[in-house]
Amino acid sequence: MMWTISPEELTRLRQAVGLSSQGLAEFLHVSEATVANWEAGAVRVPFSQVRHVRWVLGFSARNQAIKAIDLPECEWSTKFEDRPEPETSEEQRRSEQEWSAHLATCRVCQEREVVKKRFPLVLPPQPLWFETLSILMGGWLPEWAEPSVPGALVFGIVGLVRDVRLTNVPGTWGTILDVVLVSMVGAAAGLAMGVFRYYRSRWKTRAV
Ligand SMILES: [Zn+2]
Repeated sequence: MMWTISPEELTRLRQAVGLSSQGLAEFLHVSEATVANWEAGAVRVPFSQVRHVRWVLGFSARNQAIKAIDLPECEWSTKFEDRPEPETSEEQRRSEQEWSAHLATCRVCQEREVVKKRFPLVLPPQPLWFETLSILMGGWLPEWAEPSVPGALVFGIVGLVRDVRLTNVPGTWGTILDVVLVSMVGAAAGLAMGVFRYYRSRWKTRAV
């Protein structure tokens, strides 16, 4: 299952690429205790994070494969790669510019790039239904807001079915209004649950 990652799988993949839980936590901008909680199964890896987690693990696996061949090292690029990941798109753009400026002049890095191309970044396949499911499950929202989308959907569908089954149907507009209102209640319920779950998991994380 690609939209989730089990505690066992996470631990196994992390160890396979030689990443410490602290190292993984730094990549993901989460605390080490969060990673520990995921691996212990105390907290589920949120939908919004699963792809990022898998990406980091795939990226590390590739780096490990490249390290295994004895390539000449470039001091500049080693330092560059050790820098924390850019957080804003502006930082990201500047860092890409710096990198291409260096690459244009560095023979060692050019050679390394050629080798890297032989190790494409292996990411889990992302079928269309996954994207759809992720949208329906609120994967595009911050973690605490995720359940508001499935909440709105479930309530909306139940509202629609109830309206359609009524003997005196309230008419098209009446039905739409009903469904919208009921969906909003569902979204609010989902949001309340999400916020509660988020703060509970943060509290749990701190308690470790
Ligand atoms: Zn270089």
